[in-house]
Amino acid sequence: MSVKVCKFGGTSMADGNVINAVKNIICSDAGRRYIVVSAPGKRFSGDKKVTDLLYACHAAHGTEKERAFAPVRARFESIARELNCGLAVKAVLDETEREIFENADAGFTASRGEYLCARIAAEVFGAKFCDARDVIFFGADGGVDSERTYKAVKEVCSKYDFVVFPGFYGTGSDGKIKTFSRGGSDITGALIARAIRASVYENWTDVSGFYACDPRIVASPRHIKSLSYEEMGELSFMGAGVLHSQSVLPVREAGIPVIIKNTFRPQDEGTVILPVSDYLPGNGPVTGISGNKNYTAVVLYKASAETDPSFLRRALEICGRRAAAERTAGYAGSLSLAFRNLSDDVTGEISSSLEEELQPDSVRVIKNLSYVSVVGYGLGSSCALPQKIFSALAAAGIEVYSAEYGANRLSFTVSVRDGDFENCIKTLYSEFFN
Ligand code: ASP
Repeated sequence: MSVKVCKFGGTSMADGNVINAVKNIICSDAGRRYIVVSAPGKRFSGDKKVTDLLYACHAAHGTEKERAFAPVRARFESIARELNCGLAVKAVLDETEREIFENADAGFTASRGEYLCARIAAEVFGAKFCDARDVIFFGADGGVDSERTYKAVKEVCSKYDFVVFPGFYGTGSDGKIKTFSRGGSDITGALIARAIRASVYENWTDVSGFYACDPRIVASPRHIKSLSYEEMGELSFMGAGVLHSQSVLPVREAGIPVIIKNTFRPQDEGTVILPVSDYLPGNGPVTGISGNKNYTAVVLYKASAETDPSFLRRALEICGRRAAAERTAGYAGSLSLAFRNLSDDVTGEISSSLEEELQPDSVRVIKNLSYVSVVGYGLGSSCALPQKIFSALAAAGIEVYSAEYGANRLSFTVSVRDGDFENCIKTLYSEFFN
């Protein structure tokens, strides 16, 4: 029998009804034995995710803290009630509240959403609960200690054949609870799949996989049946919010396929993500288009900086003290560094430190930029596609600020004004898919 690791995201755990649907999904396939859950997500638009409630709880002070924990408590109590869960939920919540008040650590507090959800799910599914703090380990550099993690996961999975793990967190090198970045339960699922060399990593969410572009921008875009890990990485990094962009790394190493499935429409085919060697290019030259808004580019110019081998390193170091540059581009004496969601204060700090420490001829800040990537294997084989991109954007009156191939020629990215973002995606979608 093929062993599957299944991760269920926040909307799949949002209330008792949907958790029952998850139980049915699990029971319908005996291979679905290792389950990873996120904290309960939004039940309706305007609702709050439990993780957001917990961060708010961490930010609250004194008696406000108790008030801030109340909606978390109410949420889990109602889930437990709906599911007729035998777990002594009140006692577990009391204990959690006490620990949060005593421990006041953001990582610990945020992790409790996944912890509580996994405790309840394990009880309801009749599975063994395994705390992620005992199997997911981070090293001193902040990255996952994969050797230790894989060993611990394997040990648990060889002892128990039906386990629920909380996603999103593990134990840091200081022994304290540490979380991944937001959406990080996807990474937990991938690590567990890799550790036990699962036959497949199923990622259950609230959409039926990847689409050629954001359905909120273009109505009913083409559904993508299969993708390579690399294409998925490019699309996710640039904003296709289906999977965490780092989550494929562990499974990719082991060639484990990932299937994105919809908890609310389990009959839908979903999207399968495969190693490039197994991938049948059925997508045409372009697989998808994705992008993100709200970048700030800091553009430095210094005559003959290209002769100074330390210029780039120092520039990155100076910026890195305040924010991580998501995109860099350089040519001769000019260097452009783009940051996402940078506040005006930090932008000011970065440009004045660059001015002081690197003494460039000029530093220019361009705010409100969007980056949009066209992703697909056709980009590597012909220059015709960038030409089409430029012509389509020019015909739509969209000004392009910068353009570049990704290092592996799997993507071509342009930057445009935030105000042109939606139109840019629509224009490129109709160029390549209509
Ligand atoms: N609950 C966490 C978040 O909201 C992690 C996850 O959902 O994967 O980011």
